[in-house]
Amino acid sequence: MSSTTSTEPGRHIEQDFANMLRYNREMAMKLPDAERTFALQETNLSKSELQKLHQAGAIDRVERERSVCETGVTYRRWRWQTVDRVAAWIEDYFDDAPECPGEDCYSTGVRCLEPRERYTCSNDGCTETFGPDVARELIGR
Ligand SMILES: [Zn+2]
Repeated sequence: MSSTTSTEPGRHIEQDFANMLRYNREMAMKLPDAERTFALQETNLSKSELQKLHQAGAIDRVERERSVCETGVTYRRWRWQTVDRVAAWIEDYFDDAPECPGEDCYSTGVRCLEPRERYTCSNDGCTETFGPDVARELIGR
């Protein structure tokens, strides 16, 4: 074990991203597919999520571009790309998993509103409620 910083940012261990994404399904689902590059502002990812993904080797920096924000200020930002095998892994791992029936919600967490009656997912921004059958499916994973 060396304490020096890595000099090979492109080199990652397969399990880094798998371990991280397995517990961050919602973040994984926000990740654009590997076919196009993206800037942080074009996704629903937060800055800290982007950093996590980068650290885990799930995304690579592609190029720096000039961008103009709403106030007219020009700034530089990175364009990113999801690593091929990461995109493939996400598809494999999460594809068949049950998730919240709410629109654009990929949460798999469940919160109980009324025992045996009404449930909601663990995503605070989601208003979907569902019955015990769906809740059981989500928990069953
Ligand atoms: Zn939801």
